[in-house]
Amino acid sequence: MQFQSAEYVRSAGTPEQFLRDPFPKMVFAGRSNVGKSSVINRLTGRKNLARVGASPGKTRQIHYFLVDNSLYLVDLPGYGYAKVPKEEKARWANLMEQFFKTEGPRISGGVLIVDIRHRPTADDVTMYQWFRDSGCPVAVAANKLDKLKKREIEPALTLIRETLRLRPSDPLISFSAEKGHGKEALTAYLLDCRGGNS
Ligand code: GDP
Repeated sequence: MQFQSAEYVRSAGTPEQFLRDPFPKMVFAGRSNVGKSSVINRLTGRKNLARVGASPGKTRQIHYFLVDNSLYLVDLPGYGYAKVPKEEKARWANLMEQFFKTEGPRISGGVLIVDIRHRPTADDVTMYQWFRDSGCPVAVAANKLDKLKKREIEPALTLIRETLRLRPSDPLISFSAEKGHGKEALTAYLLDCRGGNS
């Protein structure tokens, strides 16, 4: 299983710019620097696809990528970066609130990306709850697996599962954007949410 094509479609900084389109939307969220762009790049097999998020003026926007002409990957702006000014945080919170309020029912699946080395933050818990409240399936990708020793993996996953209070049905996928680990499992989840497995 591998996506064949992926293209950047647009960025949205206000609700008017949200994409209204019948294709399923898979929504990616995570703290700044957790590796969200790297995960999206790994999933699509494109080195620089999600780098659009790093270009000036685009860091605080929602980015839409169309894969295989049938599914959107929606990249929410990263959160939790300590140095961001207060107004900027408020703008982010407002954009997220609008997004989940208007788009929530249309989200086909959520992917929360966390760092496998750390206990999820309060912001991660909030984000997980936003996904839950919109009624969509949620998978958690525990990224940077390559940074842990083998014996550290299970306890780390347990800590994540317990802190976020995942439901047994929520996939928790250990992932390494760097090495490719977990790509198959996360791709299968995305295709499953789309409602097909071709
Ligand atoms: P974003 O801010 O969440 O989009 O994060 P980036 O994708 O820009 O990644 C942040 C940093 O983490 C970069 O230096 C990446 O090279 C690094 N990174 C991302 N994923 C992994 C991973 O799976 N393993 C390791 N070792 N580093 C990673």
